[in-house]
Amino acid sequence: MKITDITSHPLRCKIDQSFAYSQKWLEHRSALLVKVETDEGVSGWGECFCHDAWPALVALIDRVYKPLVIGQDPLAREVIWSLLYNWTRDYGQKGLTTAAISGIDIALWDIAGKVAGLPVSKLLGGNFTSRVEAYATGLYLTQRAIEDPMALQEEAVAYAEEGFKGIKMKVGFGLAADVRNVKLVRQAVGDSIKLMVDANHAYPPSVSIRLAQHLEHLGVFWFEEPVIPEDLDGYCEVRQATTVPIAGGEAEFTRYGFLQLLSRRCVDVVQPDLCICGGISEAKKIAALASAFGTQLVPHVWGTGIAIAAALHFIASLSSEPPSLNSEPSMLELDRTENAIRDGSSVGQLAAVDGYVAVPKGPGLGIDIDETFLEKYKVF
Ligand code: CA
Repeated sequence: MKITDITSHPLRCKIDQSFAYSQKWLEHRSALLVKVETDEGVSGWGECFCHDAWPALVALIDRVYKPLVIGQDPLAREVIWSLLYNWTRDYGQKGLTTAAISGIDIALWDIAGKVAGLPVSKLLGGNFTSRVEAYATGLYLTQRAIEDPMALQEEAVAYAEEGFKGIKMKVGFGLAADVRNVKLVRQAVGDSIKLMVDANHAYPPSVSIRLAQHLEHLGVFWFEEPVIPEDLDGYCEVRQATTVPIAGGEAEFTRYGFLQLLSRRCVDVVQPDLCICGGISEAKKIAALASAFGTQLVPHVWGTGIAIAAALHFIASLSSEPPSLNSEPSMLELDRTENAIRDGSSVGQLAAVDGYVAVPKGPGLGIDIDETFLEKYKVF
């Protein structure tokens, strides 16, 4: 069996209501999907986490990695991963390169599952669970929330009423606004909901520590990306100064990066994104590291149905860390912001029911990709 082609599919859609996290306002959503085809008619889909950086990723995939991969055995995932990573290692250990490799790697897992007639979760070693607890990611800054912060309460209550047992909101808009917003949301949803906050590395350690002192009184489940991802000492300073668990890792890459984050005890919850950390193959190695350090792994997910399905299979194959009768389960991050590409790419296949999403049972990633639908959003 040989790989005959790789095609990258850059997609973009407008959104009706722009929204912001601590770094920028978003006016549209983008995605980069990757299709790998073989000489036996089996094909697989992967996804790269890239926001608007897709033109660079398309060039990397089409012009740098594709010539290396054509003719290779698609089942040789480790061989291909190693070949691609080493090809650009000296000038591309993190970021765009690992995003491109991730997209290709996820597609290879999809192919492997289809060839074996098994879901990816089985190839990963089997399911600890048939459904994964999902938490709702939303509560971004909007014009409406600026005019009336109570809008956050309405949104949070809607997630709780849908059945989500966990909700993540954005902070990083200034200490006073953050404390007010988290208080409002906590009041609205009550104490039984897991409430996570995400600063997207908006603050220096000193401000993060002051915010964390307030979050302690609001029963916050974790404080995500308090400081810039490069500042591992800053992570440790914040973590040592608060009892609120610290989460991070969506801007970290490969086993080499995560070894630092874990061994230096920067985080309580580690969050690799399968679509940029190096794919499912690399996430498996990162999970082994996290297990060795007794650290919980909850992947970052902010993509289409492919990213969600890949995360579901991966999470289902994770043991709780550390294991016990009362371990906190890993969770699926379910982005609830407006994204027609995400919703249309997995219509009805990955919906949350009572706060859980079923792990697809079909071969490979177990979801159908409607290429006619994708055409509507294709950039070229
Ligand atoms: Ca985040």
